[in-house]
Amino acid sequence: MSGRLPYDPRPWRVRRDSALGNSSMRDTLQRVAGRLSKAKSTAYGDYQIADKWRLAGVAAKRRAISQIDELVVQVIGEIERHGGKVHRARDAAEAVRCVVEVAQKNGVKLAVKSKSMVTEEIELNKGLEDAGVQVVETDLGEYIIQLAHEKPSHILAPAIHRNRGQVKELFDVEADRQGMAHLANADIEQLTQFARQQLRQEFLSADMGVTGGNFLVAETGTIVLITNEGNADMVTSLPPLLVSIVGIEKIVGTWDDLSYLLQQPALSGVGQRLSSYTTFVSGPRDESAMDGPDQWHVVLLDNGRRNLVGTPEESILSCIRCGACLNVCPVFRQIGGHAYGSVYPGPIGIVVSANLDPSMPSFLDLASQACSMCYACSEVCPMDIPLADEILTLRNHRVKTMAEPLLVRRTYEMWGRLWSTKAGYQKTIRIARLGQRFLIQKKKLRWAPGLFGGWLKTRDMPLIPPETFREWWAKTHGE
Ligand code: SF4
Repeated sequence: MSGRLPYDPRPWRVRRDSALGNSSMRDTLQRVAGRLSKAKSTAYGDYQIADKWRLAGVAAKRRAISQIDELVVQVIGEIERHGGKVHRARDAAEAVRCVVEVAQKNGVKLAVKSKSMVTEEIELNKGLEDAGVQVVETDLGEYIIQLAHEKPSHILAPAIHRNRGQVKELFDVEADRQGMAHLANADIEQLTQFARQQLRQEFLSADMGVTGGNFLVAETGTIVLITNEGNADMVTSLPPLLVSIVGIEKIVGTWDDLSYLLQQPALSGVGQRLSSYTTFVSGPRDESAMDGPDQWHVVLLDNGRRNLVGTPEESILSCIRCGACLNVCPVFRQIGGHAYGSVYPGPIGIVVSANLDPSMPSFLDLASQACSMCYACSEVCPMDIPLADEILTLRNHRVKTMAEPLLVRRTYEMWGRLWSTKAGYQKTIRIARLGQRFLIQKKKLRWAPGLFGGWLKTRDMPLIPPETFREWWAKTHGE
């Protein structure tokens, strides 16, 4: 990792083509992302007060971000008052170093983790493993991709690209490794039972639990974790040491503010009114508690977030990582998360990656390469983040700051000049209509010159009709 975020060094073309060539992944993605986005619309449609609460949640998040410095001070005071220890990390390296030091000081050999995008962002598992700590992912999706040695392909559903059969294959390899019998079939109940059995022992033997945080309530210093499997309850209550890594943008002011936001990740992400488990951590175990960690360390991560406060991009810090924008994105549905080359994929991934890590040109390129400007993401975002406008801003920035090949620049300049006038537009349409005759096969455009040729590899381009509306109007109604 040279900048603030890890990235895939393969060129965009290679990442994209490898994704487009994986038809089973594309089928699975289409099906699951489509189902999730439909579930979201249904959930909102059936739930009269959902939008009112959503808007109150948006206001709460925007308010918290505008008061971020004061809230950070308040959070630190509250956590320490309840017996926790706060560490501030300016960047990923500092955050990892801090967790490794805590682990080493306590002789940690095994850590269990609940799902957390921020730990992917800082590549915590690698840091811990390099220091001799075994890390076990306990969220089912994360457990699957850990066995597959992959990164998450979706911010909410990390294994969305894998179907049941593929998961069974992975579990069979694991069963072989442990000398166990293979699963009889890829039945969901059997798959989850297998993971459950494996993880139960890890929970009981772990020396350290690691979590992220969906929200962090400033007035009591409480971390809020949302899961559908209850694994965060185990991670936060069984090991004697707990470390939580949270981006500073996750802070909200009060429990009232939280009440408007708590439903949103599940409601917008998977169409559930509330996630199955909500875990609150307000401090290490006190003498009266039956369980809970003896020590609680909280790492507050900046890693480029504070720089965005007060800028036109500030709203992206309101993201609650629900994944709704990924589920509706036509590009994400075709290429999945890995092709983006960042731990944050999809429309929010383009915007977050390029803004958190402006040193990485390949993240800025995604604004042009992985967006069709359909605006579906902006419409669906529960936090009212103007994602498509943000992507457009990145495109403008890219044009101004990066040297495009001369041919590309000249082509767009000429195109822009021609289509800025009525006569130029009409003339080019007539020429293109004549020219397309040589490029048509079976009533479709099969080939196009230069820059436009690549388009047709994966898209159907409508033919230019024999006459335009204006020509038809002039013919039938006169000028
Ligand atoms: S940008 Fe909006 S839709 Fe996308 S993950 Fe964040 S909150 Fe959800």
